[in-house]
Amino acid sequence: MTGTVFVNGDWLEKDAATISVFDRGFLFADAVYEVVAVLDGRLVDFDAHLARLERSLNAIDLPLQRSRDEWLALFRGLVSRNAIDDGIAYVQVSRGPAVRDFAFPDNPTPTVVAFAAAKRISDSPLAESGIAVVTRPDIRWRRCDIKTVGLLGASMTKQAAIDSGADDAWFYDDLGITEGTSSNAYIVTADRELVTRQLGTDILAGITREVVLDVASREALTVVERVFSVDEAHAASEAFITSATTFVQPIVKIDDRTLGDGRPGPIVKKLRRSYIDRARELAL
Ligand code: PMP
Repeated sequence: MTGTVFVNGDWLEKDAATISVFDRGFLFADAVYEVVAVLDGRLVDFDAHLARLERSLNAIDLPLQRSRDEWLALFRGLVSRNAIDDGIAYVQVSRGPAVRDFAFPDNPTPTVVAFAAAKRISDSPLAESGIAVVTRPDIRWRRCDIKTVGLLGASMTKQAAIDSGADDAWFYDDLGITEGTSSNAYIVTADRELVTRQLGTDILAGITREVVLDVASREALTVVERVFSVDEAHAASEAFITSATTFVQPIVKIDDRTLGDGRPGPIVKKLRRSYIDRARELAL
């Protein structure tokens, strides 16, 4: 994490920034957030991320009047003040400090905090090697469509995956795979169909997902949005995840099954290249 953070309108050295012990983001995970990738110092898919932030705020009934230009200035401020070339810009909005009560306070004073971090996304070595995932029960709450900071289920599951020797986990529910701990999940079947779970309350509508499905359709891949099972995942010819912090990340192993020859497959490699080309072209 780099030096300058944003707290309620002020730019501060990170060690000097504070928020209240009574902040509802801290006490109840009563907060939503967004992560926007930064590529060559520019913001990737900014407007789609901003639209989702507004959807998340509406979903938790936390209206915040801030124009697109104000948000854009905030995100650009994060990038420039922290001299981010490749990395992420993070913004979180909580319902702010209030007397601890499960009911929402009448006149909340939201807390807006933001920071940036450098990260090699476009030339990550993991894109060359691929990663291993394990499948784990989806222990999260039932509104995964809202991007809240209530991430302990995902965090515990990622740690368990790492402890078991994998890189990450894919969640499954009674129907099949839902998504990754911080990503959407995809397989390519033997019939060359690209399959990912349909949108609903059980997964986050990934911004990268939306773009990658569009890119895939343009590249004449058959995209099918449906549930797929753990067995189908094991039998896949290719698999990958998408997120703002990984773009398109190949998977080469699911549980104890190695996919193909154990290296990223041609379809995922092509999708990653196309996604990054498009992101470079359209970033703000
Ligand atoms: N699902 C979950 C649970 C996530 O945390 C993320 C990352 N924010 C995603 C999917 C991918 O979303 P995006 O492509 O917008 O980063």
